[in-house]
Amino acid sequence: MADHNIPDAPALEGATHLHSGKVRDLYRIESGEHAGRLLMVASDRISAYDFVLDTTIPDKGEILTRMSLWWFDQLKGLVAHHVVSTDVPEAVRGRAVICEALEMYPVECVARGYLTGSGLLDYRLHGEVCGIRLPAGLQDGSRLPEPIFTPATKAAIGDHDENVDYEAVVEAVGDDEAAELRMLTMEVYGRAHELAKTRGIILADTKVEFGARPDGTTVLADEVLTPDSSRFWPADQWQPGRAQPSYDKQIVRDWLTSPESGWDRTSGEAPPPLPPEVVERTRSRYVEAYERLTGETF
Ligand code: ATP
Ligand code: MG
Repeated sequence: MADHNIPDAPALEGATHLHSGKVRDLYRIESGEHAGRLLMVASDRISAYDFVLDTTIPDKGEILTRMSLWWFDQLKGLVAHHVVSTDVPEAVRGRAVICEALEMYPVECVARGYLTGSGLLDYRLHGEVCGIRLPAGLQDGSRLPEPIFTPATKAAIGDHDENVDYEAVVEAVGDDEAAELRMLTMEVYGRAHELAKTRGIILADTKVEFGARPDGTTVLADEVLTPDSSRFWPADQWQPGRAQPSYDKQIVRDWLTSPESGWDRTSGEAPPPLPPEVVERTRSRYVEAYERLTGETF
């Protein structure tokens, strides 16, 4: 339980604060056209090694919100999504969306096309990931013979999500629903991987969440295909057998674990604030990912 340091969510008129995660704040809208819907606000907070850092990254919330919206649009036709409007209160303009309040499936739906992170750890221990046997000889960053569904269950704040096998998903949500979540997850990954490839980016893996409408329709929810939920690697630098350069908090992680930070990851202490130069490089990295993927200027 290393996590702490999530600041109080700002009060927003006409909305009730429901929940704050490491990076986002969730509200229920109480009145007007969108009464009963949710307002999901992406802050500029950044987390690393399960800590929310003291330092924020300017524009991160807006960049990730725009990226997620762009992807929802790209995925239209494949699956319905939860965003209803981006006409949000001035205080959170650009980094919040109004979305349908869904009954969430308690599964982090992960697709992996490449082996790294917790998948790699499991593979090294057991030769399999989430009950899926993989060929011998794979390395950090290896492309898998085909993309796999590697679900996880949501952990309490500060704990790691736990990889589970498909059977556990069936037990949690039922046969038909599990099959649908798996199919949709793999379709989302497949389409996004294809698209990212045309922009010179490898989508190594991604985590999506789904919820159900009152009529039972399954809807893509949360944020999608951002550097907080996915691993994006510059394709021209991909080289299995080592950690890959990536479009996420790599700069932050590298600095925190360098001697310069003076931080001992095993100490249980909160990490120190980031120097301005690390903040600026991290911000640029997010901007670069956004611009390269979408072809738009931030
Ligand atoms: P973490 O910081 O580890 O991600 P978290 O998942 O609790 O923690 P957030 O991701 O910030 O925190 O919170 C967003 C919450 O909103 C999640 O619990 C997610 O499942 C939920 N959620 C996303 N979209 C919807 C939706 N359309 N309807 C209801 N809940 C949603
Ligand atoms: Mg979350």
